[in-house]
Amino acid sequence: MVRTFGCQMNEHDSERIAGLLVADGLEPTDDLEQADVVVLNTCCIRENADNRLYGHLGHLKALRDRRPGMQIAVGGCLAQKDRDELRRRAPHVDVVFGTHNLSRAPALLRQAAAEGPVVEVLDAPDPAGDPAPSPAAVRDLPYAAWVTIQTGCDNSCAFCIVPQVRGPEASRRVDAVVAEVHELAAAGVTEVTLLGQNVNSYGRDLTRRRPLFAELLRAVGSVEGIRRVRFTSPHPKDLRPETIAAMAEVPAVCEHLHLPLQSGSDRVLAAMRRGYRAERYLERLAAARRAVPDLAVTTDVIVGFPGETEDDFADTLAVVAEAGYDSAYTFIFSPRPGTRAAAMTDRFVAPEVVADRFERLRTVVERSALARHQARVGRVEEVLVEGPSARDEQVWSGRTRQNKLVHVAGGAPAEWPRPGAYATVEVLRAAPHFLHGRAVAVTAPPRHRVRIPVAASAG
Ligand code: SF4
Repeated sequence: MVRTFGCQMNEHDSERIAGLLVADGLEPTDDLEQADVVVLNTCCIRENADNRLYGHLGHLKALRDRRPGMQIAVGGCLAQKDRDELRRRAPHVDVVFGTHNLSRAPALLRQAAAEGPVVEVLDAPDPAGDPAPSPAAVRDLPYAAWVTIQTGCDNSCAFCIVPQVRGPEASRRVDAVVAEVHELAAAGVTEVTLLGQNVNSYGRDLTRRRPLFAELLRAVGSVEGIRRVRFTSPHPKDLRPETIAAMAEVPAVCEHLHLPLQSGSDRVLAAMRRGYRAERYLERLAAARRAVPDLAVTTDVIVGFPGETEDDFADTLAVVAEAGYDSAYTFIFSPRPGTRAAAMTDRFVAPEVVADRFERLRTVVERSALARHQARVGRVEEVLVEGPSARDEQVWSGRTRQNKLVHVAGGAPAEWPRPGAYATVEVLRAAPHFLHGRAVAVTAPPRHRVRIPVAASAG
């Protein structure tokens, strides 16, 4: 069993780890009580990810006391950062591996079975290797797949630990990415999401600083059988006209842009070392909206960055209102040891002030999200069917090209379209986080040959 804490990059890494373990002879299970090997793929972006990991390890210790043969491995970002600390706090862990050597997980588990606990964390990726070969991945879904195009990050945002745990940017070759997408399409996948910490700078390390992301979008978008191409995340400072043009011109590229704002205050953006001002951000957003009709835009915003004043926060509210987001991930600043921002202790904002600002931001985001959703009522949308709704077993759900969640009621479950089918849905009602609709027509999904889940998400 592989459990994931953290982001989509980690989710996909877990799929790759699961694939490697299956190739090594293990069978996947979702039942913790039955698992002989439990791999926790960790995150260290936020404080509660650490807490949840150590809580989970405590639970596993009780299980391990009952079943001494069980092996526990911890990999990923927190393992990369904390290494020996992890074994000190959780001595029942058999294997610790980092972000640069996840392909070693099966060998390390065998070594630990023979010789006892092993910690192997590399400080840099193997320069000769493809940074993220993933043909062995056990995919979470048979019809949609993540494809890593780049690992690491060359930026130095003051709040972020990623460059320290993932290393510098390393891009996969275009032909390797496109070959993987061809394989996925042949297996029945119709939607791919290209993953990188800063996809807009994809390829700079391959071509002496000429970004290749627009070319990659065009190449992936022309793979036969691929109906939808998504990507995450672009950095606003690196969003180039060529990328916007590719989004506008390649029919498969979805009308959705996740463009992390983080703050609307130029003073805070400078302290965060983000490399853009609010005005520049809004200009690039406007350019994307002019080029791509019906573009949905989502973002990330941090509240309470050290030194954030009420005026700074007012600037953030103003930019968020002007941008008119379809949704936003809003975060309360949490200091990550080892980052510049964590050392700004004399400028931390009082928790009650942060909580108040967080609620005010949420109100502004929900207002614009609801308005953007209400504007879709009466329209007919293409929806990729995901299956029964997680909230209500009487309805099925899917996603539009703008990545909007749509719930559709009606009919017996046996008559519902299969996951992976494309349905045409008329939007009847809107809420801030989803739409309601009725099915007008359904296209059957292709035959799927992608292996399905073993990776359960915990974050
Ligand atoms: S761009 Fe900034 S926030 Fe994103 S991964 Fe790199 S350092 Fe972190």
